Parts: sequence; C-alpha cells; structure tokens
Amino acid sequence: MTLHAQATLDAQTIQAAVDAAHRDNVALQGGANASYIPYLASVDSSLFGVAVVTAEGEVYSAGDADFEFAIESISKVFTMARAMADVGPVEFHQKIGADPTGLPFNSVMALELHNDKPLSPLVNAGAMSSASLVKAADTEQRWQRILETQRAFAGREVQLSPEVNTSEQTTNFHNRAIAWLLYSGGAMYSDPMEACDVYTRQCSTLISVKDLATMGATIASGGVNPVTGERVVDAELVPHMLAEMTMEGLYTSSGDWAYTVGLPGKSGVGGGVLSVAPGKLAIAAFSPPLDPVGNSVRGMAAVGQVAQRLDLSLYKVPGAGDPPLSALLKRA
Ligand code: GLN
Repeated sequence: MTLHAQATLDAQTIQAAVDAAHRDNVALQGGANASYIPYLASVDSSLFGVAVVTAEGEVYSAGDADFEFAIESISKVFTMARAMADVGPVEFHQKIGADPTGLPFNSVMALELHNDKPLSPLVNAGAMSSASLVKAADTEQRWQRILETQRAFAGREVQLSPEVNTSEQTTNFHNRAIAWLLYSGGAMYSDPMEACDVYTRQCSTLISVKDLATMGATIASGGVNPVTGERVVDAELVPHMLAEMTMEGLYTSSGDWAYTVGLPGKSGVGGGVLSVAPGKLAIAAFSPPLDPVGNSVRGMAAVGQVAQRLDLSLYKVPGAGDPPLSALLKRA
C-alpha cells in the first residue's frame, strides 16, 4: 500500500494542470519588468504563458505560449552544457564550481569573497567564464557553437534578436567589469571582452515558453531532444547540470525553490522560468514582472503550481504534503 499516490501523468492531467496554473495566476500582481536592459522594460507586462513538454516530446500549453521573449540568464544552462562537454565535467567543476554564491547574479563581491573563483556557471561571472571555456578559434566560432547548442536543445532555429542584443551590448558595462576582474584573477580562458560579447549575445536570443519547455525536456530525457530525437548532450553530464540548477538556478531564491517546489530550475530577467523533473518532463512559464531577486513573479507561481499538482518534487516522501508557494514571495 502506498500512502502517497503518485499523480498519473496522462495527457488530460497535464493539460488541466497547465490550464489551472495559467488561470489561477493570470491576475497575480507584483513585481516589475527588468529596467537595467532598456528592451526588457518595453515588453508588455501582461504577457503570460505556461508550457509543459514531456520526456516523450508531448507539448502542452496555455496563454501566450508562442510569444518570443529574451532567454537571458536561462542561456547559462546551455552554455554550461557546451563548456562542460568541451573540457569535461572534472575540469569544468574545478574551474567554475557548483556552489551558490549567496549573492545577486551580477555580484562583484562574490568574486572578492571567493578568491576570484565564480563558484557557479549560473551567475554572470561563471557564465562568462563558461563561455570562455568553449573551444573556439575566434569570436564567431565561439558564438556559433553556443547558438547551435541552444538550437539543438530547442529543436528549432532559435535566432539572435538584434534589438535585444544592441540594447544589452550598449549597457553591459557592469558585466565588462566582471569579465576583466575574472581575467585578472585567472578565471577567464579567452579574451575577456570576447567572452563578455558572446555571453551578451547568448542572452539576446528569442524563445517561446514552448521552446523553453522543449529545452528543459531535453535535459529531463537525459540529453536527447524528445521532439527531434537528436542527442544533444551526454547523459553523463545531465546530473551535473541539474545539480548546478538546484544550487543557483533561481539565484538567492534557489534554496526557497528547493524547499517549496523541489525541482532543479532556472530563471532569466526576460521573465522566463524553467524547472525540470528528471526522467519525466519540463515546465516553463513566461511573464515579465520580476521580484527583487530577479525571478518572474507569475512564472514562479505557475511553474510551482504545475510541479505540485503533478506531484513532481524530488524530495517528497510518502505521506508528505506540499508547502505553500507563498514562501517564494519576495518583496523589495
Ligand atoms: N543579460 C543579463 C545580464 O547579464 C542576464 C541576467 C539574468 O537574466 N539574470 O545581466
């Protein structure tokens, strides 16, 4: 006898969870669009989409599921996969790390405190350091290999938005400073301005929530894109990717996310939120208003709700319920 009946993940159950997460959170207020990147401030704050893609490649969605938004920090997951595959997981771990910084995603102090080691590939410093580890002869090859990786995970010809990229490249002075600090500390493995340029481009591609859920489903299925059937990353690397996402995927809310939702995740300041239930499926949501940490308010609520309704927490044991998602709310 099981005390805790696992929800059966049939098509009807998944679509009902996606519909409910959209319906229940569409009026949720709070947060504001990111404004330090001018393009992001201009996106309609009312846009809201939710999607699930299973490890078998079935797609479910609700709301603005085809609207294309800037991938931003979620790109760090795919550059991490590229760099980890290029240098191997041991060297990647030794050079970048797998611990949370406990500080905001663009923190300079985190580098000061940790002897210039980035600690995580999912903060800006570690992401630029990861981009510098990608094997490439020049800037364009580095960029193409990173873009091709995003495309393989999405199973679609994801494109750079010149508008987002210009908006970021003309305002990314803080990231340039971080790139030079990494260089001076010996944690930059290409020209630092090349790594910052390519990192900025990787943040400026456009994806829909369906794309994002497909990218997550590729991780959930052990590295094979379930829609195209292409092996995108070695299965051996997937547990490392999921561990990195658990520790730092939602920045200083990563622990709160583990506590309430219990799945590896990743967010971006474009308003995207992704969570992966290993072996099963990925949940994605998009809504521009962010909390003070930089995570989408409606996005977290929607992804968390789907995860709980489908009973996906990795930490759940028979007889345990789900904690309230209100624990995720952060105020300025
Ligand atoms: N391009 C953004 C930056 O470098 C990405 C940050 C994010 O999504 N958290 O600041």
